[in-house]
Amino acid sequence: MHVHVNAAVSVDGKLSSTRREQISISGDEDFARMETIRAESDAVMVGVGTVLADDPSLERHDESLGREPPARVVADSRARTPTDADILAGDRPTYVLASAAAPEDRRRALERAGATVIVAGDERVALPEAFDELASHGVSRLMVEGGGELIFSLFAAELVDELTVYVGSMIIGGRGAPTLADGDGFVDEFPTLELRDVARLDDGVVLTYDV
Ligand code: NAP
Repeated sequence: MHVHVNAAVSVDGKLSSTRREQISISGDEDFARMETIRAESDAVMVGVGTVLADDPSLERHDESLGREPPARVVADSRARTPTDADILAGDRPTYVLASAAAPEDRRRALERAGATVIVAGDERVALPEAFDELASHGVSRLMVEGGGELIFSLFAAELVDELTVYVGSMIIGGRGAPTLADGDGFVDEFPTLELRDVARLDDGVVLTYDV
């Protein structure tokens, strides 16, 4: 499976502020670029932290981009996604990746709300196993939109193939504000990236890396 992580950060690497609310970091040109990646993907993924903070629909707004709209995926070990979350709205499939720690009643409630629940791992979602299962559902190109906890885990599990980061010309700051890669952090061996492209867009830059 090809995994493409795309996110927008401030110059100081933050995805959001200490309030963990959605912040407008990029502009229309970057939004169009993101829509193109969504259109090329079989599914678009976020962590449950982003679902609880932003309630994203992961909707593709530009119908002219062709193909089927992508499925939605949420990494959600304990099945905490609210049953009225926008990620479950509409007809497109939503896959909730949960772990064995997810209470049975929560799993059932999400299935009743239209989700397909994939269980992988004991406490936290075992991402490699869950991705194998997603691949068996026809997902061969996966776009990941965040947040920082999920992105760190994907790098730690060596599952990322491509990274695009829009760096907006702003400072957000705050030691508790989410960054591109949070988790426990790397301390000795760091994933290295190969810079493929630099482009100016809106009032910022897009950095494209192969991993
Ligand atoms: P997140 O990465 O969206 O979700 C993290 C949660 O996912 C974890 O707490 C965990 O909860 C669940 N999870 C399940 N399996 C996991 C695994 N193997 N590894 C890691 N997490 C796993 O949340 P976040 O880091 O708090 O980020 C949310 C913030 O990012 C919000 O402020 C949002 O606005 C911002 N954001 C910004 C952008 C951008 O491009 N600027 C994009 C997306 C989000 P369980 O343990 O309960 O499963």
